Amino acid sequence: MSFENAVKDVKSKVKYDGSHPKLAARLEKEILDTNPGVKWDDVAGLSEAKRILQETVVLPLFMPEYFQGIRRPSRGVLMFGPPGTGKTLLAKAVATECGMTFMNISCSSLCGNWYGESERLTRCLFELARAHAPTMIFIDEIDSLCSVRGSATKHETSRRLKSELLVQIDGLNNSNSTSGKMVTLLAATNFPGNLDEALRRRLEKRIYIPLPDFETRKELIQINLKLIELAPEVDIEQVAQKTEGYSGDDLTNICRDASLNGMRQKIAGKTIDESKNILKSEILKIPVTMEDFLEAVDKIKPTVSSGDIQRHQKWYSEFGSS
Ligand code: ADP
Repeated sequence: MSFENAVKDVKSKVKYDGSHPKLAARLEKEILDTNPGVKWDDVAGLSEAKRILQETVVLPLFMPEYFQGIRRPSRGVLMFGPPGTGKTLLAKAVATECGMTFMNISCSSLCGNWYGESERLTRCLFELARAHAPTMIFIDEIDSLCSVRGSATKHETSRRLKSELLVQIDGLNNSNSTSGKMVTLLAATNFPGNLDEALRRRLEKRIYIPLPDFETRKELIQINLKLIELAPEVDIEQVAQKTEGYSGDDLTNICRDASLNGMRQKIAGKTIDESKNILKSEILKIPVTMEDFLEAVDKIKPTVSSGDIQRHQKWYSEFGSS
């Protein structure tokens, strides 16, 4: 039996026996994913981030005996950078490649009134993660724990939730080294400057996920166009040159927009019924042209400002890991 199938086999027999079975059942349904289905190769570039994640998450899972004592894995890992740069994608890739259960929750869901009391939810989240180990808990927008605006009640809820989260992160270290059931916490933020010291200290590795450089943009465009027919004159290098400052998500939007343009032109001015009558095979045959790309680049503007990038670079130079 392959390693992946062995993990699945064990997981199918998992039984949660924690203190909140109903809450656990709902969490299991809503945020638990046993196979997020993203491969390393689906993530363009980010080689430095991949290297750090290999060392802090992947290898400790496969060689727990080596990562003991002074070599113990980091309690938590933070990925920070502008939105749409691949933080969630990378977390999914690590979980997929390691056969880990993936639990994806945004901090605002934990902070809000979602399913009632936040601390109970947090405790249950970690219990469930242990039951399904090896597990990766991915908490998006982790900064929102430290920057709550609004009523005194909201402040109090958030303060207590943060204390509970800190306790759980501290507990990860002990349970990982004694039970052999590894639970890894990966957090992400677009506002690292909002994290307070207590949380920052627990997120021992802090990985900067920058905007894609030229080579990464090329790779990202190629990944997006894997299954798409291109006209011979399409020059991916030129598209990559023209998209400096665009995030991975912006680039994906450009590829999507360009790839739909041929169909759009074909049905322009036609009613829905007339459009439906155009032969599918006719539309499928239309290749994406360079003009489609240039139009899309013109239409879709970069979403990240230079101020945002400077803010991240400054935080990286002060607190980032390499
Ligand atoms: P973040 O979590 O940093 O806000 P996501 O990981 O959700 O960003 O990325 C949003 C989308 O952008 C992805 O689903 C993917 O289509 C695209 N994308 C962003 N960065 C990359 C990358 N490095 N490689 C491939 N696709 C990417």
